[in-house]
Amino acid sequence: MQKILLADADKTLLEKIQSSPGNEHYVFAVASCGEEVLEKIGEFKPHLVFIDLLLPEMHGIELLKRIRKSPASEGLGVILSSNNSMIQNVTAAIKEGVDYFLPKPFELPFLYILFDRFFEGTLMPDSSSPQETPKTEEHPIYEPKAHDRNSYIKFWGTRGSNPVSGHEFIRFGGNTACLEVRHGEDMLIIDAGSGIRPFGEILDKEKQKTIHIFLSHTHWDHVTGFPFFDPIYDPDVQIVIWSPVGFEKPTRELFTDMLALAYFPVRLEDIRAKISFNDLRDGHPVSIGDITIDSHYAFHPGATLCFKIHVGGKTYGYVTDNEMFMGYHGNPNAIGKDHTLIQSHANIIDFFKGCDTLIHEAQYTPLEYQRRVGWGHSSIPNATILCKYAEIKDWIVTHHDPKNTDSDLLDKLQLHQDILEECNLKCHVQMAFDGLKILI
Ligand SMILES: [Zn+2]
Ligand SMILES: [Zn+2]
Repeated sequence: MQKILLADADKTLLEKIQSSPGNEHYVFAVASCGEEVLEKIGEFKPHLVFIDLLLPEMHGIELLKRIRKSPASEGLGVILSSNNSMIQNVTAAIKEGVDYFLPKPFELPFLYILFDRFFEGTLMPDSSSPQETPKTEEHPIYEPKAHDRNSYIKFWGTRGSNPVSGHEFIRFGGNTACLEVRHGEDMLIIDAGSGIRPFGEILDKEKQKTIHIFLSHTHWDHVTGFPFFDPIYDPDVQIVIWSPVGFEKPTRELFTDMLALAYFPVRLEDIRAKISFNDLRDGHPVSIGDITIDSHYAFHPGATLCFKIHVGGKTYGYVTDNEMFMGYHGNPNAIGKDHTLIQSHANIIDFFKGCDTLIHEAQYTPLEYQRRVGWGHSSIPNATILCKYAEIKDWIVTHHDPKNTDSDLLDKLQLHQDILEECNLKCHVQMAFDGLKILI
């Protein structure tokens, strides 16, 4: 009688092999790990061993090498079998003298054909087709449901005050405020800080014909990229600028002043694109295709607007410059819903209620804020109070201080999380960075 040693960690498979039709020609023994195979070769003295490549404790190739080195195993046939039938494994097994490499899963009658062939002396390793066993059940190719990639908001600039560069600003970037809002064919830009320059190169290639730019206000960090925005030099482009009615001068005049020859070689009137200016007023929404922008005055020097963007069924608040609860340095938990500060800020809090995401600055730590009251920017605890009463569940922090390095901003992110936790608020918070794209 021919003796076969079966070694596999899968006990069910071992039982199936032993009880398969044709078993009457063979005597079987089983092993479940490499050492046991070596022992049983000595005791049981099989003519053929069937070994799983990934047997516990000893890899099948190592086991094969040991078998081939041992004089006691001379003439012993070895079939290696595995789910891991990559060509490298098959090649290594053939090199070490395997008689056959059988990929798993396999049909039992096929294994018995191999047994018969071995004892007839016709079993040969086949290096060309490790996948020759019958095909198992076919699966249709999985295609994940892809998110709409043509509907998103993207941050092109996330700094306040002035652009920064250098190795300490690589993670969060250094361009000043600029946000792209895109929904299929509809597109608009909020703020024209230095981030609008790289974005302009893309729009120029896209050949966008009409570009709407919403300005929260005309401080440098929100307009400084405008003269370097490529589409303004294309005569086929129409640029529509939407901005709050300024305290001092209409926006067109401010742009004329900004583009005086003393500051820049191209004057507003020499710009080749057609440029028009429109007023934005608190409480008067504007729609660009399927995107609607609501605005509300912010707590910031001059006429500055906060925005609320309705797009693709979602609502995003977008606020770069807003000093909430000016002069308050206390614990955010001390401000209850009936506190006078909440009453006096009820309009702006209500404006942001229902936003899926609030993009809102929080430029200062409590200590920094003590020296910067009235500068027009919020402390982290005071911005947290706004999130609490506007019931915000997702907060993206933008308009970072140019003095803050990557490491400072990571520290600040932790501080945001600590304060939210201390206030017992379930609100996800993240720091915006240049290039951050949020699919809608
Ligand atoms: Zn700003
Ligand atoms: Zn400002």
